[in-house]
Amino acid sequence: MKHLVLLGAGHAHLHVLKALGAQSMASAHVSLVSPFPRQMYSGMVPGLVAGHYGLDEVSVALAPLAAAAKVEFLDTSATAVDAVAKTVDLLSGETLAYDVLSLDTGPVMSRDAIPGARQHALFVRPIEHFNRLWTALFELAQTRALDVVVVGGGAAGVELVMALQHRLCAVAKTGARLSLVTGGTAPMASHSIKVQLRVKQALKRRQITVFEDSCLEVREGALLLGSGARLACDAPVMALGSSAPTWLAQSGLALSEDGFIATTATLQSTSHPDVFAAGDVASRSDVSRPRSGVYAVRAGPPLEANLRLHIGGGALLPYQPQARSLNLLACGDHSAIASWGEWAVQGGWVWRWKDKIDREFVGRYRMG
Ligand SMILES: Cc1cc2nc3c(=O)[nH]c(=O)nc-3n(C[C@H](O)[C@H](O)[C@H](O)COP(=O)(O)OP(=O)(O)OC[C@H]3O[C@@H](n4cnc5c(N)ncnc54)[C@H](O)[C@@H]3O)c2cc1C
Repeated sequence: MKHLVLLGAGHAHLHVLKALGAQSMASAHVSLVSPFPRQMYSGMVPGLVAGHYGLDEVSVALAPLAAAAKVEFLDTSATAVDAVAKTVDLLSGETLAYDVLSLDTGPVMSRDAIPGARQHALFVRPIEHFNRLWTALFELAQTRALDVVVVGGGAAGVELVMALQHRLCAVAKTGARLSLVTGGTAPMASHSIKVQLRVKQALKRRQITVFEDSCLEVREGALLLGSGARLACDAPVMALGSSAPTWLAQSGLALSEDGFIATTATLQSTSHPDVFAAGDVASRSDVSRPRSGVYAVRAGPPLEANLRLHIGGGALLPYQPQARSLNLLACGDHSAIASWGEWAVQGGWVWRWKDKIDREFVGRYRMG
């Protein structure tokens, strides 16, 4: 009997777990390691902040999903992987030996990329911690008008600043002032000009001040920007880009230049074929794709197929991720912007479309 260890309950592993529930792997004992008893779906977090969803609606409970799949659930996190000894060290103090390892632990956000951020800022990841801190921020906002600044001009930053504006200003009428610091570019700079224009208009309509500047330091009550400006800030929210977990550096696994697990077309490590990786923690060595939930979701079925083939002794199947992806950007209220390459549209119907897709995704993994 082989031991398959699934690290992290990311998008692709949710699919693997569900598929194991429908058809188990007779020749493997499977363990799931996850630091939280539920997986909060990141695509619905802006809707949670905006007040459109309750916590249960955006979360998948992992213990019932694992139980239905006859997978052992270990409620802890990995602190180290040794790809030579084929072991995983856990925060609980245990060491797990594996025959086959699959990682879908997502990205992390560097606490130290901006001085002072570790001490003063709220980080969007881990999402569980953000949820707790955001709730405290919401309570504080009821007591006085806050200056809230989101740092990060990508999709997560843009969605969150509009969600915060909706909840704090349009719904709760706390008098909060919202700003976005993009890092120096236009918001959503990696998207087409049409998307950028629509995003700029959406931010302007909601009276969100945009600083196309970098944040150099976070201090108590203020941010220092690259231009030399000092921006008043009671609540800095960091929606910075994705970084690789630091514990990968000592794993012995081949890594990309930026520290993610280098994988082949079969989703195996380029250095250790018994190790698979999918989602944001992986970096394909043969094709370049952005890190996003869409690609993480799509990697689920090929990952499942190749884990079965690898454990069963069959030839693995190459997987070609799609070149483009549909992005649906929530605008805080019940509207959203859809983008596909150069093309962009927006409206209430786009929100309803996104809402349906997101609810169906989470609903697929709910047991009972
Ligand atoms: C606010 C926000 C909104 C977003 N909206 C969208 C969107 O609309 N569309 C889109 O495509 N992308 C979106 N993204 C990006 C998207 O969240 C990521 O690309 C996606 O989550 C990556 O999925 P994943 O499966 O790799 O990892 P994750 O979804 O991050 O899952 C990783 C899991 O592994 C667990 N884990 C972490 N470390 C360990 C460890 N050491 N040991 C064990 N388990 C561990 C985590 O707790 C988590 O459960 C958004 C991101 C944010 C922050």
